[in-house]
Amino acid sequence: MATRITSAGVKPPLYKIVMLGDCGVGKSSLVSRLTNPDRPMNDDISATMGIEFDTQMLDTEHGKVKAQIWDTAGNERFARVLLPTYFRKAKGVILVYDIAKAKSFESLSERWMTQIDDHASSDYLGKLLVGNKSDLDANREVTRKKAENFCREYGMEMLETSAKSGQNVLKAFEKLIGIVHNEALQARSKSKGGIKDINSSGAQNGFKLENEEGDQTISSCGC
Ligand code: GDP
Ligand code: MG
Repeated sequence: MATRITSAGVKPPLYKIVMLGDCGVGKSSLVSRLTNPDRPMNDDISATMGIEFDTQMLDTEHGKVKAQIWDTAGNERFARVLLPTYFRKAKGVILVYDIAKAKSFESLSERWMTQIDDHASSDYLGKLLVGNKSDLDANREVTRKKAENFCREYGMEMLETSAKSGQNVLKAFEKLIGIVHNEALQARSKSKGGIKDINSSGAQNGFKLENEEGDQTISSCGC
C-alpha cells in the first residue's frame, strides 16, 4: 500500500485526493491502473471494503508531488457515516461516471456534487470529471457534449479514460494533481502558511475511523 519515497532531502508535497462516483464506474480500477499499471485488470479485485488509500508520485509542471488517493464504496449507509472522514483535508476530487451508463452520470449532479458541498471543508477543492470505460464507446450512453455542459456548469475540466486499456488514466491523475498543486503554490505565495503536508495528521499511518455519530459500522458493499 503506502510507499514512502524520499528523494535527496527534499520531501515532495503531499495532497489527499478522493475518488467519488457510483458503484461499478471503475474508481478502484482507475486507482490500481495508476499504481500497478502492469497488472492486468482483474474483475475480482474490485471489492472496496470500507476506505483505503494508496500513494503515488506524480509529475507536475512545478515538480514532483505525492498524491494520496482515497477510494471508497458507494453504498448509501457507508457513505453517510464515513464521508466526513473521507473528505477531511482532501484537496482534490475525481468525479467518475461510466460513459456506458447514463444513471452514473445523473448521480453526479443528483448526489455526488451535493455530498461535496455538504462535507468538503478544505478552502479549495480541485475537481476533475472523468468519464471512464471509454473502451465501451459502442455502448455509449453519455455524450461528450453532456459531460462538457456539466463541466461548464460546475467549473471543472474533464477527460475520458479506460482503466481497461489504460487510456488517459495517468493523464487524469496528473491533470488533477497539477490543478491542486498550482492552487497550493498560489495560496502559499499569498500567505506565509506554506503547503501543509498531511503526513503530520497521522493519516499516512492508516485510516482512523472518526465520525460525528459514533457509528462505526462498515458496510459490506463490494464497490
Ligand atoms: P468501483 O465500484 O467504482 O470501484 O468500480 P470497479 O473498479 O470495481 O469496477 C467495476 C467493474 O467495471 C469491474 O468489473 C471492472 O473490471 C470494470 N471496469 C472498470 N473500469 C473499466 C473500463 O475502463 N472498461 C471496462 N470495459 N470495464 C471497466
Ligand atoms: Mg471500488
